[in-house]
Amino acid sequence: RKSVVRITTGSQALDKLLGGGIETLCITEAFGEFRSGKTQLAHTLCVSTQLPIHMHGGNGKVAYIDTEGTFRPERIVPIAERFEMDANAVLDNIIYARAYTYEHQYNLLLGLAAKMAEEPFRLLIVDSVIALFRVDFSGRGELAERQQKLAQMLSRLTKIAEEFNVAVYITNQVIADPGGGMFITDPKKPAGGHVLAHAATIRLMLRKGKGEQRVCKIFDAPNLPEGEAVFQVTSGGIMD
Ligand code: ADP
Ligand code: MG
Repeated sequence: RKSVVRITTGSQALDKLLGGGIETLCITEAFGEFRSGKTQLAHTLCVSTQLPIHMHGGNGKVAYIDTEGTFRPERIVPIAERFEMDANAVLDNIIYARAYTYEHQYNLLLGLAAKMAEEPFRLLIVDSVIALFRVDFSGRGELAERQQKLAQMLSRLTKIAEEFNVAVYITNQVIADPGGGMFITDPKKPAGGHVLAHAATIRLMLRKGKGEQRVCKIFDAPNLPEGEAVFQVTSGGIMD
């Protein structure tokens, strides 16, 4: 039986909201508008996952699937320094791949599973999990097929999380809610519909606050405490 590992986000407030950090054995989804901090949190987790367990890390390697071309290795350097780690060693332990189609994204996951069987990984990032699906299935009438392929991808991610005791961190976009009605207060919702809603164990809704502040709220989790965490995006990554 595998025991869950909680990996620090770099912010004590956010860790507290999450019950200690992002968890292995399940999928954590972050969604929010452009520049709400989803990718910066991914970069911070790339480093904190490599911290020893007693420092709230995962003592493991990181796999990063990038569908938007927004991973910046040079961002890892100041984040590693902030955690007093050797930046080159940290970079060596991040396996990075850029995906160009949803099929490519899926095949990368198959390859990663083989790697994870051999080396101790503790985090898998897919930033963004949905962008390529929205491009590759953009036509009218393609939604059902898109959702079916998305479900396959997500079930593969769940399997990886459970088989290798890995935390899976995925990012998602917000879309306009076509539902509407005059009483709607927040006309945005995460993309991916029910398929994504069911696959993600924890859904984090990120938004911009004042200046470099960001606000995180747990979305749609009746069994978790309500509340928000405020954190900052800094050169050293996510912090209080
Ligand atoms: P998302 O992925 O949600 O679109 P990002 O995670 O890319 O958003 O966040 C981008 C924001 O992060 C920028 O607008 C900026 O405020 C902040 N940011 C990025 N790099 C740095 C840095 N080196 N120092 C401070 N803030 C940064
Ligand atoms: Mg991003």
